[in-house]
Amino acid sequence: MPDTGIARILITEDEIKTTVGRLGAEITACYKGMTEELVVIGLLRGSFVFMADLIRQIKLPLIVDFMAVSTYGDGTVSSGDVKVAMDLDQSIEGRDILLVEDIVDTGNTFSKIIRMMNNRNPRSVRVCTFLDKPSRRTAHVDIDFCGITIPNEFVCGYGLDYAQRYRNLPYVGVLQLK
Ligand code: 5GP
Repeated sequence: MPDTGIARILITEDEIKTTVGRLGAEITACYKGMTEELVVIGLLRGSFVFMADLIRQIKLPLIVDFMAVSTYGDGTVSSGDVKVAMDLDQSIEGRDILLVEDIVDTGNTFSKIIRMMNNRNPRSVRVCTFLDKPSRRTAHVDIDFCGITIPNEFVCGYGLDYAQRYRNLPYVGVLQLK
């Protein structure tokens, strides 16, 4: 493995491409016939690579917004706290919104964000995650569009980091824990 710190590849570039294509088709079919633009909201920073690929596979009029929340800091253990570091640019009242996440692990982050979004009175809220790690779930999250379910391993690449590193890997790899 040329990238030091990555033990092995879990999801290849080809698998990522196929998965994003499928999710784009599912989302397109789900919202077909809608009258207003879809608001696609990416949760920074982990979702930005997935988000960039995903929106190009959604064949509908849409607008994009981002929200930054703090999750793990520089480690691999969740603190359980979710803080909004950067809020949305626009109101989502009366709009159809699609929340895009890189990975749902305990569900703590996403469940809190979904509640926060629902309090802003959108017309609908649906959620899409690239990866799902259900074995560690402690907070319930209804995932409408799910990419790939993975075992309980800490993964990096395709936007996911360890201490801000590895986000640029074109595949998803398992971190070599020291
Ligand atoms: P949750 O609140 O569901 O436990 O965690 C959600 C956030 O934790 C994700 O958005 C992601 O930033 C981080 N996270 C959870 N599991 C992993 C993982 O395996 N690798 C990386 N890089 N981040 C993870």
